[in-house]
Amino acid sequence: MSEKYDVIIIGAGPAGYVAAIRAAQLGLKTACIDDFVGKDGKPALGGTCLNVGCIPSKALLDSSKQFHNLTHAFEAHGISAKDAKMDVGTMVGRKDKIVKQFTGGITSLFKANKVTAIAGFATLNADRVVSVKDAEGKSTDYTATNVIIATGSVPIELPFAKFDGKHIVDNAGALDFSAPPKRLGVIGAGVIGLELGSVWKRLGSEVTILEALPDFLAAADADIAKVAAREFKKQGLDIRLGAKLGKAEVGKKGVTLTYTDAKGEQTLEVDKLLVAVGRRAATKGLLGDNTGVKLDDRGRVEVDEHNWTGVEGVWAAGDCVRGPMLAHKGSEEGIAVAELIAGKAGHVNLDTIPWVIYTEPELAWVGQTEAQVKEAGIPYKTGSFPFAAIGRAVAMNETAGQVKVIAHAETDRILGVHMVGPVVSELIAEAVVTMEFKGSAEDLARIVHAHPTLSEAVHEAALAVDKRAIHKAN
Ligand code: NAD
Repeated sequence: MSEKYDVIIIGAGPAGYVAAIRAAQLGLKTACIDDFVGKDGKPALGGTCLNVGCIPSKALLDSSKQFHNLTHAFEAHGISAKDAKMDVGTMVGRKDKIVKQFTGGITSLFKANKVTAIAGFATLNADRVVSVKDAEGKSTDYTATNVIIATGSVPIELPFAKFDGKHIVDNAGALDFSAPPKRLGVIGAGVIGLELGSVWKRLGSEVTILEALPDFLAAADADIAKVAAREFKKQGLDIRLGAKLGKAEVGKKGVTLTYTDAKGEQTLEVDKLLVAVGRRAATKGLLGDNTGVKLDDRGRVEVDEHNWTGVEGVWAAGDCVRGPMLAHKGSEEGIAVAELIAGKAGHVNLDTIPWVIYTEPELAWVGQTEAQVKEAGIPYKTGSFPFAAIGRAVAMNETAGQVKVIAHAETDRILGVHMVGPVVSELIAEAVVTMEFKGSAEDLARIVHAHPTLSEAVHEAALAVDKRAIHKAN
């Protein structure tokens, strides 16, 4: 007979493992199934985020930033380190250690919370019977009163530039180069392309990014994207917009790319190619017969506003459902679903999910862009403030960027906050809290911000909405 649980979660990424811990905290008998295998060949919890996504990329971004600062930025402080060298093996080894620490941490948290971890590939069948195939091919059935699908997403593969793990790689491959490729090509100037392109550029690669869209970072506010584009150009990132890849041929010398842009057909030779053109829901092989669970035209599990699939006891959360593919969004959905299952009130506000791009300068935003507000016909006003006029930023020698606040012209309620600059990944939290509490620009303007801090840029931008910023002409 199959073992019965209150909750079975398929997937142990940020949506799944967090849902499992919360369900167990609420007294539910919980199992979490995952098929990810780490670099050491052993099952590893944490999904894409911990194994080959957020955490390892931040480790490399930090190492490469330290190196870049040492070789480029420290001179302004009177520190010279002209002969500094980077040992890529040590850098990648440090990244692997961090990954292991965090994936091992989930194993410990599961033990502490009495969550059963099951290694293998799960298929959901009718009546919430979950079949798990382990590494040896042995299949075992489990049943549950509730199943949460949290299978995450996988990189989209271009048919004419298939991943081979050697010359043409996805995000995971680009975390493990043994040396900076002399010439790195990147397809897609999105989050992954910009973050991993920055890592290898800082370590000496010549990086060319081909982006199909004519606008740079179309999802971000245009003012913020403009500043970012200027800074990335200064750093030597060669970003070519409106460039549609036709083919990528692997030869003796590397990869030859053929693409078309406004000027016609172009070719580009690179040593390695990172393809980062988005991700799709990982739902292949997930559903058995007659589950009643529906997939949309992009392969995502269909859910309502409560992450319910419409099938009794079957829920879905994270990258495999609608909404932004962000770890923190998935985690909050996981918690909300666990709480709903336990009879509590779980809810996620998709309108106040922060976005962050961990380049240098960083980008962060929450809410609507100015273009979206304009298109919706909402009367609005904006205020912005440059980091160049912030004492702390000047002392840090990191003055590029600005904060921009968009507020309703009549009610003053904040509609969006957009930032590019130093450590804005942390500054955005204040904007999220204010928006979550339905705050106004005046609220932000009247809150005391410590001096001298970077957060004063948020304060001044809020004051600027009402044309009363102190440290700039309004
Ligand atoms: P993305 O959607 O951020 O960017 C993909 C880019 O590729 C887009 O600009 C798109 O226009 C372009 N593109 C698509 N097809 C193309 C083609 N044929 N030729 C050239 N350009 C093409 O996707 P991503 O960077 O692959 O990231 C995947 C997901 O992972 C995203 O949803 C992202 O939010 C998430 N992620 C988030 C973070 C973070 O929060 N910092 C970091 C990494 C990844």
